[in-house]
Amino acid sequence: MSVHRSDFIETRLEVVDPRFKKLVLFNAQLEQLFDGCRWLEGPVWFGDQMRLLVSDIPNDRILAWDEASGLSVFRHRAGFPNGQTRDHQGRLLTCSHGRRALLRTEHNGRVTSLVDSFEGQPLNTPNDVVVKSDGTIWFSDPHYGLVNDYEGVRRACWQPPAIYRFDPVDGSIKAMTSVEDVHGPNGLAFSPDESLLYVVDTGAADDVAPVREIRLFDVSDGGKALSAGRLFHQVTPGNADGIRVDEDGNLWSSAGDGVHCIAPSGNLLGKIFTPKVVGNLCFGGEYGNRLFLCCWDSVYSIHLNTRGVQHVATP
Ligand code: MG
Repeated sequence: MSVHRSDFIETRLEVVDPRFKKLVLFNAQLEQLFDGCRWLEGPVWFGDQMRLLVSDIPNDRILAWDEASGLSVFRHRAGFPNGQTRDHQGRLLTCSHGRRALLRTEHNGRVTSLVDSFEGQPLNTPNDVVVKSDGTIWFSDPHYGLVNDYEGVRRACWQPPAIYRFDPVDGSIKAMTSVEDVHGPNGLAFSPDESLLYVVDTGAADDVAPVREIRLFDVSDGGKALSAGRLFHQVTPGNADGIRVDEDGNLWSSAGDGVHCIAPSGNLLGKIFTPKVVGNLCFGGEYGNRLFLCCWDSVYSIHLNTRGVQHVATP
């Protein structure tokens, strides 16, 4: 694993819609921050520590990177971590394939399991997680971490794939989608006003030719239900995995050739090409305008002329 703190790469953009020009910076370069990992996901920015945490899933560890001191191992034997975010108290939330659980790192460093079962049976392998302004935690639970011994441990599936809503206040958990709604729930993100939830469907784990698309749901019943699921966008080449929304409601999606920016209408606005496939991404930096990209075994970043949306706590 090595660090390339000044390894700037000529950025290649594709402007599909003129609106994309307002979202990118003509003199911002794609920067490789480090490489030498196996498969990276789960980037999450800790502004108070000015560092990025990221999951190196097959190596079963969480890495930490910051501008001043570079790369270090944050946690080894981390439970095959995948998607990550922070709750409104700033605590790290981690999807764990190995522990089949949603984990929370407390302020004292202790790791607690928030959710590891539903209706008396173990979860599958939580994949990605977001926090709504009301503090509820929404995560996907597909089968992907159960089908081989590379990004987890090959074991039986106990649950149909689903999106769950977990309320840490009362401990309640509810399945928000059925397998008919989403075959393989993966990345997820709320629109700025949280009236919509974007869900990446990467297909059933045993499907050799899965249909992979970004689905869109209305958030209804005061945030306790999803309805009117429909196709939002189909990424090509490759497929969407992790997704993030900017302050104007544009969706930034991982793709086979880089990052795609998609308008709320579902139309592709433009692309930022990367040397390798992008799995997950997140906004960060002091102003929230730096996009961090997990590109296979490497992490890249690029500054944008927009910011990631903040779902701040509601009183
Ligand atoms: Mg994912």
